[in-house]
Amino acid sequence: QAKSKGRDQFSVYRRIMTAQVISEFKLEQQLRRGIQSNEIECWLQSKVDDNGNVISAEALARWRHRGKIISPDSFIPLAERLGLINDIGEIIAGYVACCIREARKRIPNFQIAMNVSPRQFMHEDFVTKLCLAFSQEQAPLAGLVIEITENLLIHDIDEVNAIMEQLAAKGVQFSVDDFGTGYSNLKRLQWIPVSELKIDRQFVENGMDGGRGQALLDTIIMMSQSLGMTTVVEGVETQDQFEHLKNKGITQFQGYLFHRPEPMSTWLEALH
Ligand code: C2E
Ligand code: MG
Ligand code: MG
Ligand code: MG
Repeated sequence: QAKSKGRDQFSVYRRIMTAQVISEFKLEQQLRRGIQSNEIECWLQSKVDDNGNVISAEALARWRHRGKIISPDSFIPLAERLGLINDIGEIIAGYVACCIREARKRIPNFQIAMNVSPRQFMHEDFVTKLCLAFSQEQAPLAGLVIEITENLLIHDIDEVNAIMEQLAAKGVQFSVDDFGTGYSNLKRLQWIPVSELKIDRQFVENGMDGGRGQALLDTIIMMSQSLGMTTVVEGVETQDQFEHLKNKGITQFQGYLFHRPEPMSTWLEALH
């Protein structure tokens, strides 16, 4: 009886596997086609200062597929597996360059951040393609902030550093995203030209509990500040969180309390 039960379970398992393989294959074709036919969009979420004034923004990829907006958490990992992440990165870089150029007509020195995954960052054409996108759009690289994650720092540090220095020389700035959630190698922070840490929203979620969650948030903020980093807190959703963070000396915020991500055209219109 155990044997037949095992066999049943196996065939169920195989059926699910096949279904997954098929749907992943379909999704792959759809994503490839989507990239070719301009379904990848660039949305922007503004960041604000302690008065709620817009100071900069972050570009967030979206896939507009069959009338639905698909979130990057569902297609970026797929794009990574399929080796399509660099194509998506190039598309986003072009949009970001355009937004920087347009935003700077209104607000001098305005900066926009884009997310770059480790695989994207370590790709041999990364710097060339990025610079090309900015020169095609006639946008200054000094307007660009690249958000990396701690996971990049597990790669060869000399290689990572060389790429960063090359871009830093052109005015690009670097920020560590989702700080505190990756494979931290804290000592490496002192060797790379990073000027900003973004504290992950998970710390904010539990950051008002009066217990360990709060101790953790407050300690991470202190650490970032004593490293001399610009500290941005993401995922601010309530006025209480905002007040607490202001009391801790935070001056840059990102979260639904202020602005949600919006399509590039809407975001640009709002600037005018
Ligand atoms: P991230 O870079 O940490 O971006 C912040 C995420 O938090 C965004 O999700 C944003 O919409 C969301 N968010 C902002 N404020 C709040 C808030 O107050 N509450 C809550 N609950 N969420 C908030 P999104 O747009 O779904 O992006 C998810 C992740 O996908 C990003 O996290 C980033 O790691 C990745 N991603 C997005 N665009 C790109 C891209 O162009 N390239 C790469 N490699 N990754 C990207
Ligand atoms: Mg980010
Ligand atoms: Mg983040
Ligand atoms: Mg994230």
